[in-house]
Amino acid sequence: MSKYIFITGGVVSSVGKGISVASIGRILKSRGISVSVQKLDPYLNVDPGTMSPFQHGEVFVTQDGAETDLDLGHYERFIGVELTQASNVTSGQVYSSVIANERRGDFLGGTIQVVPHVTNEIKRRIRRVAEISQAEIIIVEVGGTVGDIEGQPFLEAIRQMRKDEGRDNVLYIHVTFLPHIAATDELKTKPTQHSVNELRRIGIQPDAILCRSDKEISGGIKDKISLFCDVDKEAVISLVTSDTIYEVPLLLEDAGLGEFIVRRLGLRTDRGDLDGWRAMVAKLKAPKEPVTIGLVGKYVGLRDAYYSVREALCHAALAHNRTVKIEWLDSEQLDGMADDKLRQVQGIIVPGGFGYRGIEGMVKAAKFARQRKIPYLGLCLGMHIMVIELGRHVFHTDKVNSTEFDTDSAYPVIDLLPEQHSVEEKGGTMRLGTYPCHLVAGTVAARAYGVDVVYERHRHRYEFNNDFRQPLEEAGIVASGLSPDGRLVEITELRDHPWMLACQFHPEFKSRPDSPHPLFVGLVGAAKETLIEGAQTSLPLN
Ligand code: GLN
Repeated sequence: MSKYIFITGGVVSSVGKGISVASIGRILKSRGISVSVQKLDPYLNVDPGTMSPFQHGEVFVTQDGAETDLDLGHYERFIGVELTQASNVTSGQVYSSVIANERRGDFLGGTIQVVPHVTNEIKRRIRRVAEISQAEIIIVEVGGTVGDIEGQPFLEAIRQMRKDEGRDNVLYIHVTFLPHIAATDELKTKPTQHSVNELRRIGIQPDAILCRSDKEISGGIKDKISLFCDVDKEAVISLVTSDTIYEVPLLLEDAGLGEFIVRRLGLRTDRGDLDGWRAMVAKLKAPKEPVTIGLVGKYVGLRDAYYSVREALCHAALAHNRTVKIEWLDSEQLDGMADDKLRQVQGIIVPGGFGYRGIEGMVKAAKFARQRKIPYLGLCLGMHIMVIELGRHVFHTDKVNSTEFDTDSAYPVIDLLPEQHSVEEKGGTMRLGTYPCHLVAGTVAARAYGVDVVYERHRHRYEFNNDFRQPLEEAGIVASGLSPDGRLVEITELRDHPWMLACQFHPEFKSRPDSPHPLFVGLVGAAKETLIEGAQTSLPLN
């Protein structure tokens, strides 16, 4: 039988609740405990797939093709698990299924209410993660902060879980923030007290409190929180802002949280072994030579929009004993300035995206990479950009495009598959999730991966248009990764270029700090050989 740890947040959002959850998962896993994780998101969208990255940050895609909250990326990277669509539940999903059941007549004429119908559906979905994963511990993060109107049914459901599952099988951890008052150089506990009061009002007494702060918290502050919030002093854990998110499992372990959880839930375990993780963090924090990568996208104002890309670059740099310096280049502003900004980087990434805005700047970046022989990695949209750019060069016209941006293009080098033309709904209608990709021997891709077949995660509608394959191949494109039937081009690379490669999938979702993704390792490896001065020699532009 699984046991549950529920994590709530108080005071303010963005204090690192997701990282805390992922870190708790890591410290339990390091004790040999099997762990699965779930995020409950109170908003009414069915999933974040249709939300703007400016609103929601990155959409993380699971292996089974769910479009989920970016916190699932933290969970997978820290814990080393592969999660499923059951791991992200939104109010939108809960209400849709309750209402669908009602329409089917399942409630036999009853009045449908938040308690018990909505809360039962939430609890059913929480238990599903236990059924699917068979993990000993299920960690469940409730999105938002305590007191949010839409979060109430979730809090009520997790309150009921302690009664349903037994007191020794459920633990509540509350993550709060202690503001620092500069004038008196003090950390304040009052907002934490208020948010714990709010939790208690609905019947949840936290077992532990993680106090995020920018300064170390003193014993006196812990005593105060322990007293007012009725939590053991050893369970008031200081979570000081750290240099790297990967340090958080070590901070929590060293503060005794692992031992506390194991004792409270009566788990039989080995002693924790975080030695490998500790060594990785030490290497990450050690001073290293930087490698500069330009990330050319249209959501660069909100860096959360590219969270997994950023992390994958960090992991790959670590594998080369470098640190990565990312230049965030807004593709909409790249026009006239392209050369100047791109001259400062050793490698270029064009990540995923949707819609025409910002596309021309990305094409400029791809052109710069091709002509100046700067290493380039295109991710999904970044592959479309690479193909469009080469197409414009080959056919000598800017009419070359993806039909996503120009429905009437005379040269639609990127297009929908014929069977997709009739799809009209926006949500969940893309090619989503893991598909196999066969690598062509002797290519950069095959060398980077070192295997024949890889499985990567997709999230897109448009594909390489095979009508243009022959002329593009003659011009230097190599289709180095293909679907098993050979019909879909999954990876393109450029002949006679040190490292210009793009993929139709999103490799960033599979990169882990202790197992970096081969394509990112390949990009950073090529980039570190690029001298920034080398990029400044003016080659003829054509
Ligand atoms: N907009 C493109 C498509 O739908 C690329 C999507 C992406 O980059 N994830 O095919």
